[in-house]
Amino acid sequence: MATGTLMQRYTEYNDRLKAKGIKLITFACPSCGQSIETGPAPEGDVWDTLSDCPHCNAMFMKVTEGKKAYGLIPEAPPQYVDLIFQDGRTESVDVSKAEHVLELGGFAPKI
Ligand SMILES: [Zn+2]
Repeated sequence: MATGTLMQRYTEYNDRLKAKGIKLITFACPSCGQSIETGPAPEGDVWDTLSDCPHCNAMFMKVTEGKKAYGLIPEAPPQYVDLIFQDGRTESVDVSKAEHVLELGGFAPKI
């Protein structure tokens, strides 16, 4: 099991890369905008990996293309459920947007 906070592990990992003489590249977290350091990919290679931001803990897909890196936050795919109200109205609701469901009636439909 990993020990230490995400920030400690992130710092230690990057320090090890720097100690090996690897020049790190930086990119902005797609969630909080803070700068994140990462190792470059070999020229011509594209790496993608699920990552956590050491600043805000947001989970995102990190894409490294040579000396460029960026983060993408995947959107939940829409998932529609047909709600039938007591007055007979029906509405198709995208339950991947949970706040919307809560606005409608304060309950989550059975899926
Ligand atoms: Zn962040």
